[in-house]
Amino acid sequence: MPAARAGQARGDRERLRARADRRRGRGRRGSRGRPVHRGHPRPARPAPGGGLTRDRPGIQHQPRGPRLRRNRAAGRDRGGADRAVLRLNAPRLRPARPLGRLPGSLHLRLRGGRGAHVPAGVPRRAQCPPRRAGPPRALRPSPRCGFPEGQLPARPRPGRAGAGPQLLPRRGPPEPDRGAEGSPAAGPPRGPGRGPRGVAQAPGNGAPCRRPRPLPLLGARRPDRRLPRGGPRQDPHPGPDPREAAARGRRDGGHRAGVRARRRPIALAGRGEGGVNRPQRSRAGRTLPGRPRPRRTVTVIGGGISGLATAGLLARDGHAVQLLEKNEVLGGRAGRWEAEGFRFDTGPSWYLMPEVIDHWFRLMGSSAPDELRLERLDPGYRVFFEAHEDPVDIPASREGAVALFDSLDRGSGAALARYLEEAEDAYGVALERFLYDDFSSLRGLAHPDVLRRGSRLAALLAQSLHTRVSRRFADRRERQILGYPAVFLGTTPYRAPALYQLMSHLDLTQGVLYPHGGFAALVDAMERLARSAGVQIRTGARATRILTGPAPGGPRVEGVAWTDAEGREHRTGASVVVGAADLHHLETELLPAELRTHPERAWDRRDPGPGAVLACLGVRGTLPELAHHSLFFARDWRDNFARIGAGVTPAETTSIYVSRTSATDGGVAPAGDESLFVLVPSAAAPDWGRGGIGGAGAVAVEEVADRAIQQISAWARIPDLAERVVLRRTFGPADFEHDVNAWRGGALGLAHTLRQSAFLRPGNASRTVSGLLYAGASVRPGIGVPMCLISAELVLKRVRGERRPGPVGPPLVALRGQAAAGTAARGAALADAARAEGVAWPT
Ligand SMILES: Cc1cc2nc3c(=O)[nH]c(=O)nc-3n(C[C@H](O)[C@H](O)[C@H](O)COP(=O)(O)OP(=O)(O)OC[C@H]3O[C@@H](n4cnc5c(N)ncnc54)[C@H](O)[C@@H]3O)c2cc1C
Repeated sequence: MPAARAGQARGDRERLRARADRRRGRGRRGSRGRPVHRGHPRPARPAPGGGLTRDRPGIQHQPRGPRLRRNRAAGRDRGGADRAVLRLNAPRLRPARPLGRLPGSLHLRLRGGRGAHVPAGVPRRAQCPPRRAGPPRALRPSPRCGFPEGQLPARPRPGRAGAGPQLLPRRGPPEPDRGAEGSPAAGPPRGPGRGPRGVAQAPGNGAPCRRPRPLPLLGARRPDRRLPRGGPRQDPHPGPDPREAAARGRRDGGHRAGVRARRRPIALAGRGEGGVNRPQRSRAGRTLPGRPRPRRTVTVIGGGISGLATAGLLARDGHAVQLLEKNEVLGGRAGRWEAEGFRFDTGPSWYLMPEVIDHWFRLMGSSAPDELRLERLDPGYRVFFEAHEDPVDIPASREGAVALFDSLDRGSGAALARYLEEAEDAYGVALERFLYDDFSSLRGLAHPDVLRRGSRLAALLAQSLHTRVSRRFADRRERQILGYPAVFLGTTPYRAPALYQLMSHLDLTQGVLYPHGGFAALVDAMERLARSAGVQIRTGARATRILTGPAPGGPRVEGVAWTDAEGREHRTGASVVVGAADLHHLETELLPAELRTHPERAWDRRDPGPGAVLACLGVRGTLPELAHHSLFFARDWRDNFARIGAGVTPAETTSIYVSRTSATDGGVAPAGDESLFVLVPSAAAPDWGRGGIGGAGAVAVEEVADRAIQQISAWARIPDLAERVVLRRTFGPADFEHDVNAWRGGALGLAHTLRQSAFLRPGNASRTVSGLLYAGASVRPGIGVPMCLISAELVLKRVRGERRPGPVGPPLVALRGQAAAGTAARGAALADAARAEGVAWPT
């Protein structure tokens, strides 16, 4: 053999070996593209001369016969979703140079799957053009990958009776499911969804046929990859009642039989009761009627904002929904505490993005003005700056903010006006194109709205918020006013992408509202609407496991195991489970290791965001020195944020937020007194410990609270503040861990850094377990009450099978138009809406 050809053959062999390795999931590629074998034996060398020829199709460890599988690629259009694809002997090996007439694998689409037979001698080129030569493509892992052949369902073998390339649904009566009967003739247990000959089957009968479409968009797009080596997975969480099969007189001889038996109790409770989907437009431009939606049995884990919101929307869509909350009180991080006539919100207090909150209420058949008494705060908030005598009040309008900036630094008002215009534009695009998109497809990013702004958006992503602000504003106070909203997003202006400039549209243009009764009133209103939509709410119910079982498309949810307040164990069946608690808890504590989309090692690279030390203070007498919202900004912000990131205690002077709700709401404190809520952003460090009542918390937590009171006292010139405190309760990072299962005791959830934003943030569906969806602050779109409400809508869209970006239904768009016109117009619109509906509206 000439040297050149020998070298070529060697190269081919190397390449083929590497590919076979990758197919088995073993090979890692080294720096030179060669496979690196770590802890695995090298694959056997092919027999001498075993290069790529047409007779010897390379290294195929598993013989591959004709197989029928679902045409996944065609799932994009409704028409082709269930077309069968015949896959003929599929070496799929590509040499370094094109092999002329030899195509790779041959995919034959059988239109409609009726009446065709295996066409002998299909002309290759006509069906499948030769592949382009080029670098090898990433392989999709085969469902058989990694399993010993003996434990896999039989492959079809040509020539055996009834086992020939049976490509089509049989027209005759269904073939009995031999595997389900457990007959010895049925052979080894079959994998999920494989019939007697390894042909995809509908779960209900033994005939190979087009199986019903799985739950649309309910995640689990690549389940098989995570199945363990060494054989079919033993179900780690048997379903709600594994004896169900036996009760029906079936012998549970195989894996599938068990699945069918267990799934029955949680089968869809009737079809067509969950409303009708939106009419769709086909590729040919025809309008297809909306399909009736199946009614699902849903269990929501977590009764915080996102859990309540999701449960309410799904119940209103016709599904049977149960919500499990481990605490006795709903709300999660939007918590409350009440003692001696003082009432406190222990979580959110800034009511931002009012149109988003209103949109949720409208989807529930009500509206925010109907359910809440909202008041616009003026000033929006007050800021105390270190080394500046006088605090600065932030007006409740854009014009006021522009005038304020001019007074702080002459000429900066015009820069602010431009900045706010950009912020408004970014907010509008985010609302239309990003926030209501779960990014299950990236098509939304190709919208003209986004493409037109492509270079500007790219610049906003490439730059930090701090850089953008400091290039335009020289005054430290202005920089801090424009930079602090990053903290709302659990990050810092140094780490937040400049796209979050849009946050300034919320506080400086839209203004800050206050719901009378605090956020507890919001939680109560949500609970009320969820219950009236039919949600069954169980408090004191701690979910302990998400139950899963095998199914044709891979593992899927079967329910939730939970314990009640008395410690009794329960199991609830569900065809959809929505995890609305902290994602880390859901993934690493409620799911077995092999079913996690976000395994423990993925969290090593994630930023948990800041923790917080909170202090609820009942204060005798009034405190006019403080506004409803007051912010105290330390001069050395870099050090301030660096300490939070490094997990060390805050410096003597640090940044603090104080909410004095009693300034607006007479109902939260005894007459003439004030209730203060103090928040000190600090490290997410549960080892600091928990807080307590009357100074009984962990030392580290109480010290931070003491220093904060001193600082407020000094900066706001309230010398006797500490002495006037008559009620005090603190919360530390360990409280977040204990109370809401927050990862590392984080107060807000995963920080909105670039790597944890938009489609880079954990998604709203498990990629491993079908039917398992996620809502809440740790998934898309992110942190904050409005974002949690949007995440509920994203889950609703998943269950409905809707993929387009944008909110469900039109009201938000209508309100957005008014909101964009500014706070005054927005306020007037809300007031009009309230008056039209006969609701009292504060002026
Ligand atoms: C101090 C603070 C201030 C904030 N300020 C603002 C603000 O001003 N404006 C704003 O918009 N947002 C604010 N936020 C953020 C906002 O409160 C949160 O983003 C939002 O409330 C998170 O809601 P959630 O439902 O996703 O999660 P959570 O509130 O954490 O709810 C999860 C729920 O799941 C429950 N749970 C956990 N594990 C289990 C289990 N195994 N079984 C059953 N139940 C379980 C928990 O008990 C909890 O009730 C603030 C948050 C904090 C902590």
